[in-house]
Amino acid sequence: MQSHIYDAIVIGAGGMGSATAYHLAKSGADVLVLEQFQRGHTFGSSHGETRIIRFFYDKSFYTELMKTAYSEWCDLESVSGKQLLFITGSVNLGESGNPYMISVRQSLDAAGVESEWWDAKQLTERFSQFRVSNDMDILWQKDTGFLYASECVLTHLQLAEQHGAKIREETHVNHIDWEMDVPTVYAGDSEFYGRKVVVTTGAWTDILLPEIDFPLKVTRQQVCYYQNAAPLFQPEQFPVFTEIRKDGEFLYGIPYFGKNGLKVARHGKGKRVFPDRCNREPDADYVDRIDVYVQERIPGLGKSTHAEVCLYTETPDEDFIIDAHPNCPDLLIAAGFSGHGFKFCSLVGRIMCELALTGETEFDISPFRIKR
Ligand SMILES: Cc1cc2nc3c(=O)[nH]c(=O)nc-3n(C[C@H](O)[C@H](O)[C@H](O)COP(=O)(O)OP(=O)(O)OC[C@H]3O[C@@H](n4cnc5c(N)ncnc54)[C@H](O)[C@@H]3O)c2cc1C
Repeated sequence: MQSHIYDAIVIGAGGMGSATAYHLAKSGADVLVLEQFQRGHTFGSSHGETRIIRFFYDKSFYTELMKTAYSEWCDLESVSGKQLLFITGSVNLGESGNPYMISVRQSLDAAGVESEWWDAKQLTERFSQFRVSNDMDILWQKDTGFLYASECVLTHLQLAEQHGAKIREETHVNHIDWEMDVPTVYAGDSEFYGRKVVVTTGAWTDILLPEIDFPLKVTRQQVCYYQNAAPLFQPEQFPVFTEIRKDGEFLYGIPYFGKNGLKVARHGKGKRVFPDRCNREPDADYVDRIDVYVQERIPGLGKSTHAEVCLYTETPDEDFIIDAHPNCPDLLIAAGFSGHGFKFCSLVGRIMCELALTGETEFDISPFRIKR
């Protein structure tokens, strides 16, 4: 008997997989999603309540792509009737003359996205929570905000199901046989067939596809939370902020939201780990380091109350991987989101859907080839 052949099988139901499933199912495709844990789990990269969404990038192709990513998130809000996107504006701090800040401004200007240089006085008049020195570069960008991340993943999955997608949780994919006429996905004792297979397995990607020499490195990351619920730290009165320090260290913060509170963290610099053997207990010295920074920059915030561990899947240039398997055009891969991918989920879902259903996309994904 001929087994059922899905139009597309999506492996991994995190940020990217959930969005891909939604776009595919909305387009009328017969979709199966396979996720090794339960939806909304906390072992990958998309858990927690907040992720920054921003236009500002030092590479202008990201700023251009964000135009569609923003509009896709707005569409998701209107279709679901949920608020998922919270615009607060952002204060972006850097040592004076920092080349990163100058490139960011250039890519915003080139894309026609407004931003303003502020001095320390302008900053503290608008946001008295910050303490900065007079010689810092301060860039204000009004469209920055944050996404209600965990809810975005669940919403994409719920809507995908409403459009007919089947989602199998606690289904670990062991192997994909892409040499068959129809790519075959093996999970435990089961086999599934898909005309296209989309791999969105985050930190587990090179384990699932060992035949590809991916330039991927999985690292352990930590974030600190501050449960100071004063109005001054709520999204209506406190912006997203980022800071690039002299030594290249990049810190960021997101206003008070949800059960965890206000988040402050350092981007990157985590130790390399195996995703299934990662210590989930935050390090005391990391928390102390962030507390010292907060004491200097936002003295009224107080000390962190708790911290959390999450995984990055990094490429050497921090650019994504969006490409077909080198030996099988029916197997598509979206991985290596390098700690800045969540804001793009809405767009990556659409791109993966276009690639799966038509073999092409209107978006420029040339920076994201596996071999570059
Ligand atoms: C601390 C932290 C802060 C961040 N902050 C931001 C931010 O402010 N803004 C931003 O834009 N981005 C941010 N990011 C990055 C962003 O969250 C990630 O780029 C994004 O979530 C990656 O999504 P993903 O779908 O690739 O991975 P995941 O969400 O991890 O999804 C992969 C899924 O695949 C499943 N899977 C893996 N292997 C298998 C298998 N063999 N069989 C079945 N299922 C499998 C996993 O269980 C998982 O559910 C942050 C990341 C972290 C960790």
